[in-house]
Amino acid sequence: MFAEVIVDILNSETDKVFDYIIPDNLKLIEGTRVLVPFGNRKIEGYVIKIKSDSSVSKEKLKEVIKPIDNYAAILPEMLKLKDFMTRRYNLRVADTLRLFIPSEMRSGKVKPIFKTYCKLNENFNLEEFALTLKKNAVKQMELVLFLREHKIADFTLLNKDFGAQAVKKFIDLGILTTFQEEITRSPDVLNHAKEHFVHTPEQERAITGVKLNENCTYLIHGVTGSGKTEVYMTLIENVLKNGKSAIMLVPEISLTPQIMYNFKNRFGENVALLHSGLSAGERYDEWRRLRNGKAKVAVGARSAIFAPLENVGIIIIDEEHDSSYSSESNPRYKTVEVADFRTRYNSCPLVLGSATPSIASYYYSQIGKYKLLELPTRANGKDMPKIQIVDMLSEIRNGNNGIFSVALRDELAACMRDKKQAMLFLNRRGYTSFMMCRKCGYVAKCTDCDVSLVYHKVEDKLKCHYCGKRFKALTVCPECGSHEIRQGAIGTQRVVDELRELFPDVKILRMDNDTTKNKNSHQKILEEFSNSHPAILVGTQMIAKGHDFPDVTLVGIIDADQSLYQSDYRSPERAFALITQVSGRAGRKDLEGKVILQTYNPRHYVYKFASNYNYKAFYEKEINLRETTKFPPFTTIVRVLVSSENEEIAKSAIRSIYNELADVYNNFRNDFYYFNAMKSPVGRIKNKTRYQILMRFTKLKESDIMEKIYSVADSHKSAKLSIFVEIDPQNLS
Ligand code: ADP
Ligand code: ZN
Ligand code: ZN
Repeated sequence: MFAEVIVDILNSETDKVFDYIIPDNLKLIEGTRVLVPFGNRKIEGYVIKIKSDSSVSKEKLKEVIKPIDNYAAILPEMLKLKDFMTRRYNLRVADTLRLFIPSEMRSGKVKPIFKTYCKLNENFNLEEFALTLKKNAVKQMELVLFLREHKIADFTLLNKDFGAQAVKKFIDLGILTTFQEEITRSPDVLNHAKEHFVHTPEQERAITGVKLNENCTYLIHGVTGSGKTEVYMTLIENVLKNGKSAIMLVPEISLTPQIMYNFKNRFGENVALLHSGLSAGERYDEWRRLRNGKAKVAVGARSAIFAPLENVGIIIIDEEHDSSYSSESNPRYKTVEVADFRTRYNSCPLVLGSATPSIASYYYSQIGKYKLLELPTRANGKDMPKIQIVDMLSEIRNGNNGIFSVALRDELAACMRDKKQAMLFLNRRGYTSFMMCRKCGYVAKCTDCDVSLVYHKVEDKLKCHYCGKRFKALTVCPECGSHEIRQGAIGTQRVVDELRELFPDVKILRMDNDTTKNKNSHQKILEEFSNSHPAILVGTQMIAKGHDFPDVTLVGIIDADQSLYQSDYRSPERAFALITQVSGRAGRKDLEGKVILQTYNPRHYVYKFASNYNYKAFYEKEINLRETTKFPPFTTIVRVLVSSENEEIAKSAIRSIYNELADVYNNFRNDFYYFNAMKSPVGRIKNKTRYQILMRFTKLKESDIMEKIYSVADSHKSAKLSIFVEIDPQNLS
């Protein structure tokens, strides 16, 4: 038999797949890590296929030396998934396999750790032994008695307590034996009191609505605080009862200690937590616990979708609308598509959950592709906090040029007087900035694409990130003639400074990228906030999710417009989601919550619907827009991105790709649109120049068109040029 072995998977420039002979005395299965001769070295590789013949002449083939592990590191399911991913995303096999195996294992840096233990030999007889002992050998007698009582003892501790010499002597005499056992470095999670509720009727309906033994995709639309976590945990419990395993994904940012406690409490040792805070050893051990079946529930961020679990019985993706589920750097993939593959393979349900589903997912639930389950009320029976929209233009007209509206200042003062807590939210996403008239709220948009234009300072131009069209930067508002044009955003530090002046005696904390660089700083800030009364927490996206502070009664959204005018067709849905998330922080327990939303565009439909928590009306408006403007889910958007240290190489590659796309266009005339080649919005990264072409096509011909695009892209790949084809990129930088 022969094995196809991929070697050197750390090197992703090329896939190195070679045939090896499997010696007759070796039992190998696909997916096993093996040692193979390579040139005059011995290196590590993975068997990706076993076959009865090889097209390479037999004299040239070498033999597999030996398997490295006594199990297959890559499951049969994952080998199939590899085929799917390499085809769907045009990935290299090496890049794909690297997602499946912990990096600690590949480099061989982290090894399992073993501990040595001691026990008394089975034929040991205390009475006989006592007779042989000298009168003064008290320590030795104690050692024996200790072991008789405890059965098994830690070798190191035994040496320390009773003396290494005594222990050694007993081993030599055959009284004691030592043995080794692997210990796992499981991350500690503190124990919290178990919560046990009677499920609400809504929860019950959602739980029974999910059929566990067939493949189907469900969308759980449940308002913040509706108790979705409880639904997920119950579903997983039922899956475990059927002897199957489960994968639960949350965005990294909402993988809060609270979620971890919840899962550890419910599932104990059965859950493996995969998050960025783990040490290399912990990550490796958690992976192995999943692989050897000691843990059957994987909870983690995006990459946990590759958990090495057999017999998966459910995959749950919480906050399914979150953009972090799309991998935007090589290897690029869409988590939901990988999840779809795995749940199909295992004939089990895929559950997507959100308070604000992505427009695409909700659309699928409307056309019958997904099954919709709804949790329209909060589990504690409380109403959602009231959202008050404040018109910042009228503040300016009334002479208030500051960051805070009068309403927000008054509410803050009242909240501080009551010794409660407030959260102030600023939006920071990406690098983009729009231009806006401070008098009438006008924002420049692309005449062709209906997305906001992005101001490029260097060239002093406004640009559309979809079609590349350029426009003059604003100096005068075309609507009202005002010269007061705002560009750029308010920083967290400035907000904090102004708050300190307004409330000199109040604890004011700040949470953003700058203040959370150290490992535990995130947690420390939250703890300090939680323990301070009154207090104000000023922060970015980081404070929007997951946190449960019972004493937060006020939430202020300082610059809501910032998320509305990103140059992306998804800006409205992201703004809607963010407002809903942030608002969900107020009034979590028994106290009433209030939200103040500051905007220069108070009549925008996003604010109108978000302030009433009217997702469905928002969806209707949005889906109609998408249909008329031909954006997803009615089309697929693809970007071909080339980058090279050599500007000329990049430029000429993108030109010829553009010309070759004309063929695709001719074949799919009514289904395919493409735009001019242009420099990417961020024209240079790590000294590489970047050019791109964007295209859109109907879903109908998607796989045919993708195949063509990939083959065009592949024909231009070279050592000096990287080419990426991105499906529905989350970010066009
Ligand atoms: P979601 O994820 O839908 O935003 P959570 O799962 O965080 O909501 O639940 C919100 C709160 O409701 C939590 O404090 C949770 O403990 C509580 N909760 C969940 N289910 C119930 C229930 N059946 N009865 C009472 N409280 C519940
Ligand atoms: Zn104006
Ligand atoms: Zn445009």
